[in-house]
Formats: sequence, structure tokens, C-alpha cells
Amino acid sequence: MASQAHNPFKIAQQQLDEAAKMLGLDAGTHAALREPMREMHVSLPVRMDNGAVRVFKGFRVQYNDARGPTKGGIRFHPDETIDTVRALAAWMTWKTSVVDIPLGGSKGGIICNPKEMSPGELERLSRQYIRQVGRILGLEKDCPAPDVYTTPQIMAWMMDEFYWQKGYNDFGMITGKPLPLGGSRGRNDATARGGVYCVREASKAIGLDPCKSSYAIQGFGNAGQYAATLMKEILGCGKLVAVSDSRGGVTNPGGINAEEIVKYKLDTGKVEGFPGTKPITNEALLELDVDILFPAALEHCITAANAGNVKARIIAELSNGPTTPEADVILYKRGAYVIPDFLCNAGGVTVSYFEMVQNAYNYYWELPLVHKRLDEKMTSAFQAVHKMREQQKVHTRLAAYLVAVQRVAEAMKLRGWV
Ligand code: NAD
Repeated sequence: MASQAHNPFKIAQQQLDEAAKMLGLDAGTHAALREPMREMHVSLPVRMDNGAVRVFKGFRVQYNDARGPTKGGIRFHPDETIDTVRALAAWMTWKTSVVDIPLGGSKGGIICNPKEMSPGELERLSRQYIRQVGRILGLEKDCPAPDVYTTPQIMAWMMDEFYWQKGYNDFGMITGKPLPLGGSRGRNDATARGGVYCVREASKAIGLDPCKSSYAIQGFGNAGQYAATLMKEILGCGKLVAVSDSRGGVTNPGGINAEEIVKYKLDTGKVEGFPGTKPITNEALLELDVDILFPAALEHCITAANAGNVKARIIAELSNGPTTPEADVILYKRGAYVIPDFLCNAGGVTVSYFEMVQNAYNYYWELPLVHKRLDEKMTSAFQAVHKMREQQKVHTRLAAYLVAVQRVAEAMKLRGWV
């Protein structure tokens, strides 16, 4: 995930540098924001089903907690690297800031291949991670959540392990939990829902009629699947023309039934072979002539090499870090409206924050209230960023950085850190 050419942490630093320059940040504040405040590296011995002990490597990076306790997901991935985790932790810092929730940013990861592990092995690995990292977690310190290849079940095991360490239920130490264990209503689809609220606002901003629009989705996991169905639920129309996952993609210019392809993916584990569609590669999907493109897989899929061929008018980044800085400039010059990752996918952390709030007062909200509050947060964040974009005449990611970095820098100054 973190090749030398596209090291995500270098990209995150480059993006910050540009914002710091435009904001006129003093050198000390800028330097403090370029590095994580704390990180923990752990080795995790786990008894595998064959009786042997295997040692996994794990990380937790707490990037910045000036605005409140840190918050960020945990990834299980064979190509996980510390620089990927650092970049994601930095992006979490800007994300909580841009949606203006009182939290900082963090991220965790374990180098492992969950597709090759049994449920028992995954449970033992998840518990071992908390045995090691639990000492720096908690509602008031740092609160993890699901990310790539981690699930509500994994969150439940982690919460339970924390319970055995502490001796009491601290449901708010982790979010994305199953509903019976203090999860929030509306968390499952929150990332995609927040992204679709942003697409609704961006469509208004550029005068695109969502009813006449077509859309394609790269990556068909949690975020991608919900985006497919919510486009219709929230915008009332729109035509899904292509989807893909790690095995490959499918397309039908006449339209793909979103509910049916989600069901097919859940039943078969793939999108390939969905009736009425033709195969398409992940690369070709990005270059389709669609109105809206949702990258919803992994990092740096839109680079200087292919940005010139990306035709979508709105690029709604549900995944983290799909577009490189060079690609951002190419897309902006061409007039594309990129809704940057840390704004577009902030619905997940926003409902995670609602989950922490509900856990803290042990009283739970009905679904319409979650949706209403999420819509308010996402819409006002989108509008703040759009206003900055228009005022400063910069691409949307830089506008979002200007809004977010300014708030974190102000908190650091007020606390006397810089
Ligand atoms: P997920 O594990 O549920 O799904 C990931 C999907 O991407 C899978 O369908 C997988 O097959 C596909 N994929 C993997 N490699 C691919 C490749 N090379 N080309 C095409 N598809 C590929 O993960 P998710 O939760 O949907 O997260 C997706 C992205 O959204 C990640 O970048 C994640 O950090 C980001 N995100 C997720 C959430 C959330 O709440 N789920 C919140 C914020 C950001």
C-alpha cells in the first residue's frame, strides 16, 4: 500500500505543506502538524488453528489530540505499513476537524490477511491487539472503529477484551459495535450516506441534475455497496453503470440494479458474472464517461498517469487517499469537482462520534434523529469547504485542508503548545 512512488504519508505531508503555506502558519506549528504526536508498534503472538504460534505486527498512531480525544479505525491488511497508518491518522485529524466534531485523529493497523484466517484466529488476534494497545485507548483517550477488513464483530471482541482489562463495561472505547452492544443506529451506512449527502450538495453547486446522472463505484465493500443503494434512496434517481471489487468489475451502460448487485456480492463474494453485465477492469472503470465516480477501495488509484482520462464531473472519494496531489491539479484544471476523502467519507466518523455520545450517557437515539444530525453536520461541512474553494479559487481538497488545519492550529495555539 505504501510504495516509494506513492508513499501515502509523504502525500499527506505534501498536502499539509501546501495548506500551511497558504494559511501562513508559523514554522513551529507547521512542523508540529507534520508528524504524529504518538505511535505504538506492537508484536502480537497468536495461537493459530494448527497449534503453531504466529507473530503479527500491529500499529496505533495518535496523530493529534489538540481538539479532543483521538479517533480512527483499525485496518487488517497484508500490505499494511506504518506510513499508511500515519497518513490515515493525519487524514483523521483533518476529517474530525472539517466536520467540526470535538475529536482528534488516529489510526491502527495489523499486517495480516483476514481472508486466510479462521474466525477463531481473527478473534485471538483482535483480543491480542487490545491486550497490547488497550493501555492507550479509552473514550477519553483514543477510540478505534472498523476500517478495511474489520467488522462490527471484531469491534465487539475488542470491546469485550477491554472490559476484562478494566473490569467494567466501557462501550464508548470503540465504535462501529453491533447494536446490542452499544452500537449506534445508522452506523452501518453512515460513511456512504455522508458521501451521498455531499454528492447532493455538489450537484447543486455545479448544476448537475442527479436524476439524469450516471455513476460508477470502484470497491464494493461496506462503503461502496451502501453508496450504490443510497444514491437512489437519497437522491431519488440516478443510474449505476459499473462496480468493481478486488477481483474485477462489471458494467452495463443501460443501468445495474443496485439492490440486486449488492445481494449478488453478499451471496457470492464477487461482482464478476452479475447477470446482464460485461466485465470491466478496475482501471477502465475509473475512466468511464459517467457523471459521478465513487472511488471506494484503496489508496492512489487516480494518479498523474490516468487523471487526464477520468471523465466524471464529480469524484466522490469514499476511500482514503485515492487521488495523488498531481492528479488533483489535473482534475481541477479540467473542471472536475473532487469531494475530498476526509470530507466525503466523514459520515462514518460523525456517526461514530454520535455513538460515543450515546455510550457516554447510555441513552440511544432513533434512526431518523441520527440521519437528521448527520445531514446537518455533512451539509454544513460541505458548505464551509465550498465557500473556501470559491473564495480562495483553489481545488476542493486544498479548501478542505484550509478549513481543517486552521481549526487544529488554533486549538494548539490556545492550549499553548505552539
Ligand atoms: P471493505 O473492506 O468493506 O471494502 C473494500 C472493498 O475494496 C472490497 O470490495 C474489496 O474487494 C475492494 N478492493 C480491494 N482492493 C481493490 C482494488 N485494488 N481494486 C478495486 N477494489 C478493491 O472496506 P470499506 O469499509 O468499504 O472501506 C473502503 C474505503 O473507504 C477505505 O479506503 C476506507 O479507509 C474508507 N473508509 C471506510 C469507512 C467505513 O466506515 N467503512 C469510513 C471512512 C473511510
